[in-house]
Amino acid sequence: MAAFPAISLTMSYSVTPIGFVRSCFKEKFAIPRQPQLAPAARGVLELVPPFDQAEAVQGLEQVSHVWLLFLFHQALEDKPRLKVRPPRLGGNQSLGVFATRSTHRPNGIGQSVVRLEKVEAGRLWLSGIDLLDGTPVLDIKPYVPYADRVADASNRIAEAAPALIPVEWEDAALIQAREHQARLEQPLVTLIEQCLAQDPRPAYQEPGPERRYGARLWDVDVHWHYPRPGTIRVLAVIKA
Ligand code: SAM
Repeated sequence: MAAFPAISLTMSYSVTPIGFVRSCFKEKFAIPRQPQLAPAARGVLELVPPFDQAEAVQGLEQVSHVWLLFLFHQALEDKPRLKVRPPRLGGNQSLGVFATRSTHRPNGIGQSVVRLEKVEAGRLWLSGIDLLDGTPVLDIKPYVPYADRVADASNRIAEAAPALIPVEWEDAALIQAREHQARLEQPLVTLIEQCLAQDPRPAYQEPGPERRYGARLWDVDVHWHYPRPGTIRVLAVIKA
């Protein structure tokens, strides 16, 4: 085989976001670890000039899902990591960065397949997202089922979606959540249940019932605890 020409090791490129995500997730904690795990997780990708014109999204209304390539803008690091500790493995086992979907990665690029609910000039309405509010998006590509769905694919590190845990409600918290749901006109109760059922707590923490957790979804703070191991109980849903 002919030798490959030498590659410059100092090449660098700059990329510019084509838009930013307005997301139901206002902080990293409690965002599902992959897209599609919380179908009620909604957001809007707001495109910036010149991509905010109807021409740029023409045809996209024929597509059910898109790939988003984005920047983990709240996890960018100067020093590259070769190994990471995926939360999925309990946070105490390290793997090569390229064997994981960790946010700590060279160039800080993430990718998610999300449902495209509606297409407008300058705006894509999305669901099933795993993206933080303000996430810069670098590119959008239509999901192509015949090429992107790999029937015999396997991944022995992440064979199946994480097991779900039961989510219970204090009566008062459910009333609060329903009130905010009506005000926001968003499926807040389902969103809370879908996100908390993923058990957002770091795997190495074994919290007693006295330990409270919280996360912000839309403009409300959701508070919960673990009354028994493996069960979440929502305690309050309060406007931030
Ligand atoms: N699906 C993407 C991928 O595989 O590249 C993301 C996977 S990553 C494990 C998902 C986590 O990234 C979420 O749970 C959230 O905590 C975090 N995240 C989402 N958007 C982010 C952002 N803009 N900056 C930093 N972290 C972010």
